[in-house]
Amino acid sequence: MRKKIAAANWKMNLSWKEGNELINQLLDRHPAINNGHQVILAVPFPYLTLAAKLIAGRSDFALAAQNCYHLPAGAYTGEVSASMLASIGIKYCVVGHSERREYQQETPAQLADKLQLCFNHAITPIFCCGEPLPIRENGDPSRYVTDQLIASLSSLAPEQIAQLIIAYEPIWAIGTGKTASSAQAQEMHLAIRNYLRDTYGSSIAAEIPILYGGSVKSSNATEIFANPDVDGGLVGGASLIADEFSAIIKALP
Ligand code: PEP
Repeated sequence: MRKKIAAANWKMNLSWKEGNELINQLLDRHPAINNGHQVILAVPFPYLTLAAKLIAGRSDFALAAQNCYHLPAGAYTGEVSASMLASIGIKYCVVGHSERREYQQETPAQLADKLQLCFNHAITPIFCCGEPLPIRENGDPSRYVTDQLIASLSSLAPEQIAQLIIAYEPIWAIGTGKTASSAQAQEMHLAIRNYLRDTYGSSIAAEIPILYGGSVKSSNATEIFANPDVDGGLVGGASLIADEFSAIIKALP
């Protein structure tokens, strides 16, 4: 059975005082997460070790970095490597978020290197993919997303692919308040799973959690998460509000 996951992407938001309060509220409201569900909090780099102290002893809560560098070490001022993350016990890392692809011009080859570095250090990548609006309106979104997967996953071994988490995040739905309809989400998740099945076999494809991201809120989470190929969500804006994210955690099937 695939894990169902509620992942929070705080992006560049919240002071540590606010973040600390938010995590404590979530821990209080969810003394134990049911059914083996996993909550993952992708907090800014400076908060990782602070947040780790708050969730110590709670295996149902984990932390993710929002990024890592595509090279292992060296003179890259301001960057953070996968090995540094591993050295402070971080188990997950978001790779290829559309904001980084757009604002930092991250390339598919760099993303492939980041994925490999994460696996080298036993960090599970949450690999983001998703189409922009013109492709949704006039193109072939499944082809676009499959091409993103081919471009960054092809150099990985099947055993590594089996450890991956994928987040399908249509760019037109991120931070816009527009959500993919439940049917659109399921259609894209199924296309991703079919690609994984055709390329890596049905048992690997069946094991990979595929999260939906794009204006997930308490009001739409239950319907989106109920789809057979949607295994939870990667949540931006709504993850900054305890009531909202708490309801999203409860919406996991
Ligand atoms: C995201 O940043 O991954 C995201 C899905 O953001 P939002 O929920 O705000 O659309």
